[in-house]
Amino acid sequence: MKAHANLYRELPSIDELLRSSEAASLIQDEGQPAVTDACRAVLARLRNEVATGHFDPDKLRLALTGIHAAIRAQLRQSLSYSLKPVINATGVVLHTNLGRAPIASSAIDHIAATAGVYSNLEFNLDSGERGKRDVHVDRLFRKLLSSHDVVHTQSADGRGTDVPAKSSVSTIVVNNNAAAVLLALNTLAEGGEVIVSRGELVEIGGSFRIPDVMSKSGAVLREVGTTNRTRVADYERAINERTKLLLRVHRSNFEISGFTEQPQISELVALAAKHKLPLMEDLGSGALFDLRTVGISNEPTVLDSLQAGVHVVTYSGDKLLGGPQSGLISGCADLVQKMRSNSLFRALRVDKLTYAALEAVLLAYVKRDYNAIPTVRMVQLSKSEIAGRAENLIAQVSGNVDQRTTGKLRFELVDGESLIGGGSAPSAVLPTTLIAITASDLSANDLAARLRSATPPAISRVEEGRVLLDLRTVFPSQDETLVQLLAQIPGDSHREE
Ligand SMILES: *Cc1c(COP(=O)(O)O)cnc(C)c1O
Repeated sequence: MKAHANLYRELPSIDELLRSSEAASLIQDEGQPAVTDACRAVLARLRNEVATGHFDPDKLRLALTGIHAAIRAQLRQSLSYSLKPVINATGVVLHTNLGRAPIASSAIDHIAATAGVYSNLEFNLDSGERGKRDVHVDRLFRKLLSSHDVVHTQSADGRGTDVPAKSSVSTIVVNNNAAAVLLALNTLAEGGEVIVSRGELVEIGGSFRIPDVMSKSGAVLREVGTTNRTRVADYERAINERTKLLLRVHRSNFEISGFTEQPQISELVALAAKHKLPLMEDLGSGALFDLRTVGISNEPTVLDSLQAGVHVVTYSGDKLLGGPQSGLISGCADLVQKMRSNSLFRALRVDKLTYAALEAVLLAYVKRDYNAIPTVRMVQLSKSEIAGRAENLIAQVSGNVDQRTTGKLRFELVDGESLIGGGSAPSAVLPTTLIAITASDLSANDLAARLRSATPPAISRVEEGRVLLDLRTVFPSQDETLVQLLAQIPGDSHREE
């Protein structure tokens, strides 16, 4: 205790630190409050070391000679961004933990041009009066989703469900697809029953559960069928005077195989027409381009669903669409108009940044410029293109490694699969070529950790004692960075030994 007390006396006070010439220049650059905080944090750390008996007088003196460097480091850490770019080498195109869809550069440009100044977000430049924020993207969704084939056969006598006979498609934007489902259910079915197949009562990662969203919306869930088999007759038997909506939920992250049955969407459309009920589909991913072009056949596009006669489709903006986080509700104009008038819409609406990004991405779709949309471009990459880049990368790294006597990484090209991920069909995999890496002096997990702690961090997969890199999700402009990160790894490991 006594010894501690003496050591405490050696510590400078905050005021002494702040009066030093080193602190003065830091204060000039970063401001007094931040520098004071940093001094406080460093002093607290030293005090703690003294308290826990880590210091003798010599060690403390040594620590004190480095105190200004410690303050600078503390300041750098506390004033740097926590959210930062990473290299996604996992091959999971829509990786929810890594921010799902990277946004097109045209979207970034459009945000930069419109968000730092005033814009006509809700202002009609012709009339000089208040406008609507969704006009900016609705006009593009109309182009992408209005096909003269979208005909909604409905309602002659009206059972109070107001399903339109024939209608143009309109779209509104909310914060994410969870919000889209909530708003749609609340608008179309509050106080009534919604019929859903038991096999579709899904939980999407991050605790989005259909039964929970249903109860929050004020609608009553009416489950039909069994987990593996539901027939259209099961839906029909459950229909009663309280029924307000038929709901189909896309099984985004799991697959039921074997003895299964699920009604065709056309059967549900016919049932909805017969009973004059609206039919809603929670598509989840909501592709605007045809995945059959990349060999994935069981993932309907938004247009497929609307053309099949579904009245309302909900989907995410940052899944296969490849835009910013948002939830889209596309469907019969009058049903969508009701959702727009719902006061919940005001609570769930999105910012101008989202509209700017969405508008740019949708414009790329309208122009069929798929190359401009990173996720679509990645999904369309062929196995051989990826193999070519992988070979090139290995050649460059092993070149560098050869110059080091510590070179201990072994590289191999192996066949594998990329995942679309993020709530698209669970079976939606794409053939790819992986770089498999093993190190003689590091476990695969340690090697993956090294890559993660690099600047920028690189995220890989570990399988069967190897680190796997899938260049499908690495931007070509990041290949060079990856080469440098890999070239540094054996050196670092050597230094620590
Ligand atoms: C992903 C997904 C959601 C949730 O979408 P968010 O945009 O993440 O809120 C809801 N339903 C389905 C079927 C999904 O795949």
